Amino acid sequence: MTTATPLPAAQRAAADPGIRFSIFLLELTSHCNMCCDFCPDGIMKRPRGLMDVGLAKKVMRELADKRMAERVFFHVMGEPLLHPKFDELARHAHGCGLKLSLYTNSSLLTEKHIERILSVPVDNLTLSIQSIDQDSFVLRRAGRLTYDNYVGGVERFLRMKVERRHPGKVTMHYMVGNVKPGSPGDLLIVSREQAEEIIGKWRAFFRGLDPEGAARVSPPPVSLADVERDYPVYPGVTLFLKAAHHWAGAMVQLGYEFRPSAAGYCAAINGGPAAGTFAVLWNGTATYCCNDYEGTLALGNANEQSIEEIFNGPKAASIRKNAAGGRLIHPTCQKCMGQLVKIETGKKVPKYNNPLTLLHLSSNYYKRHGLRQTVLKSLDYLRKSF
Ligand code: SF4
Ligand code: SF4
Repeated sequence: MTTATPLPAAQRAAADPGIRFSIFLLELTSHCNMCCDFCPDGIMKRPRGLMDVGLAKKVMRELADKRMAERVFFHVMGEPLLHPKFDELARHAHGCGLKLSLYTNSSLLTEKHIERILSVPVDNLTLSIQSIDQDSFVLRRAGRLTYDNYVGGVERFLRMKVERRHPGKVTMHYMVGNVKPGSPGDLLIVSREQAEEIIGKWRAFFRGLDPEGAARVSPPPVSLADVERDYPVYPGVTLFLKAAHHWAGAMVQLGYEFRPSAAGYCAAINGGPAAGTFAVLWNGTATYCCNDYEGTLALGNANEQSIEEIFNGPKAASIRKNAAGGRLIHPTCQKCMGQLVKIETGKKVPKYNNPLTLLHLSSNYYKRHGLRQTVLKSLDYLRKSF
């Protein structure tokens, strides 16, 4: 197995072009063994495939050598554990000096796959669980897998992690279905009581494994008005309540639609060279974010170009330059930042149900993007709401 050696600091500094991605997504595969109702997997038209190992290594090498990212995520769409060389690529990321964030749909947590995960340097593992019981698990359309077997796999993984004192951080994602009006996911968490119950269940699970460890954390009171926050359930293990995505306007409830808007602010693009997002799909197509699940932005191809060339190329630069002035020139972005309306009445629907949610998200946005971007984003929100 090839293990890349990080460049000496002086050489890395010399190669520094000033591009910094806060999130860099590398889609190891677009294949997924689930077909969730709240995800565009079922409507995705682009071909499925596995990323070539050489391509994945080349991109990671460049990110590390030019200090473009500190961390790499192994997904855009798809389930990364389905890539047969996942382990080798995870070790390559570590060998390059990159931290690795792994998102898994948690359906493959057999002993074999758990060994794979625990044997490689995954610094941050997200277990995308979303469903809370057998009823809500129907939204995940996971073949013949039952909810009990599914959760059994999650418990097996967590038990092995605790027993081996594995240091990687684990986040369990649960989706809140009623925070963004029009979003899919009615069967997901919709009440504070449901969220408290699921947090209580995991707290009890860890108390059974390690009472002293479990006593060292205490989650804050649950508030569904304040989503996108962490609830620690064990040292190094957190439950995260997230709002359902609309995937660039593609996933909305029946009766709602997104009307495109050519004006708006996007953190993925506007983060720019300091804090933007970037993604390379399995076939090398580059895009700015995971919402563009079809890769329609098609900024370039990492098989033929370096990431630096794609980022500084005419297409990516023009999208960025316009976005800095609040103009969205690509149709996917126009839909993504468009206005949700109720089709029957034509009435604009505010993006969030609750002002507290908005306040919490704004303060997070401010911490990440600074005052100017937060003011521009707020003005954009107000413009679309009235
Ligand atoms: S949400 Fe994840 S697990 Fe579900 S279909 Fe999409 S990619 Fe697969
Ligand atoms: S506006 Fe465009 S780049 Fe930004 S999140 Fe939406 S699709 Fe992605």
